[in-house]
Amino acid sequence: MSTLLVLAEHNGTTLAPSFAKLMGAAVALGKATVLVCGKGAKAVADDAATYQGVEKVLYAEHDSFARPTAEALCEMLDAHVGSAQYVLAAGSSYSRGALARFAARKGAVMLSDVLAVDGPTSFTRPMYAGAVNAKVDVPAGLTVLTVRATAFAEGSKGGNAAVEAIAAVPAKVANASVGVELTKSSRPELGSAKVVVSGGRGLGSKENFKIIEDLADALGAAVGASRAAVDAGYVPNDLQVGQTGKVVAPELYVAVGISGAVQHLAGIKGAKTIVAINKDPNAPIFKVADYGLVGDLFEIIPQWSGKAKG
Ligand SMILES: Cc1cc2nc3c(=O)[nH]c(=O)nc-3n(C[C@H](O)[C@H](O)[C@H](O)COP(=O)(O)OP(=O)(O)OC[C@H]3O[C@@H](n4cnc5c(N)ncnc54)[C@H](O)[C@@H]3O)c2cc1C
Repeated sequence: MSTLLVLAEHNGTTLAPSFAKLMGAAVALGKATVLVCGKGAKAVADDAATYQGVEKVLYAEHDSFARPTAEALCEMLDAHVGSAQYVLAAGSSYSRGALARFAARKGAVMLSDVLAVDGPTSFTRPMYAGAVNAKVDVPAGLTVLTVRATAFAEGSKGGNAAVEAIAAVPAKVANASVGVELTKSSRPELGSAKVVVSGGRGLGSKENFKIIEDLADALGAAVGASRAAVDAGYVPNDLQVGQTGKVVAPELYVAVGISGAVQHLAGIKGAKTIVAINKDPNAPIFKVADYGLVGDLFEIIPQWSGKAKG
């Protein structure tokens, strides 16, 4: 019997990029049963079976699993948790609601956004908007965890687990997902990009924000933004980086016209190198930046884009 039940996120065709890192976190806790709920997504289950540490994959096929609700996933977790000690998923809108409902139903301990597995009952997770990393000891028993995938190395492939078809369990709550609108972009996905260029209120307008997109394209980067830039309507809110936006962990993070509020910094703690461009030499972003350029972004960014293109 597996010690872990892992909920796999996917888009119907492929596993989410976070899955490999989720398995990197999972191996420290034991052998996993992976649950894949989908419609015509057997290939996803087959792929999950190739990760090391996976003992078995349970694949549930149902029309409603083209867009499963948190309630439906919660039912599936409940039906298949068995004697597992841990229920695990990458922290995302796909899994958070399901795991929270499941933990509440079971009266289980739940830790969100786990950054490290320190032992069987000991985990590190951020607190106070990422201002501190807390080591948390939990009592033995069923433990429900969402992990911050960017904090873990990818799990290895080379496994060959069996894939077992299971029946969908009807959700007790009569709700359904009526549609999903995905942002179409040729740029890398913000959460997993190696380079991110973010703009802030310093850009001044939606039209001016284009220079951030130009630089991002020249560097093959994803575009991000501060909340102030999002609130001002320069870019849609799925580009927001920070405490209430996306958490990013790129090799290079370029913060342009962003002051460096603690809520923004909470989203970039995992960035390897931070470059900040700001006209105010006292902007707090310079305290965390590896490289700082004090100057007018409207002069610096077009020059950088030009050099990167040329
Ligand atoms: C509960 C809560 C949650 C929050 N969550 C988030 C979050 O997830 N993400 C987030 O980003 N914020 C978040 N915030 C908001 C946060 O506190 C800041 O208000 C926000 O990050 C500021 O955005 P900014 O740096 O773009 O704007 P500002 O703080 O106004 O900074 C603009 C910067 O641009 C510089 N600048 C202006 N013109 C130029 C120029 N021509 N050249 C160069 N530099 C220039 C200025 O010197 C200034 O430093 C949250 C706040 C709260 C209360």
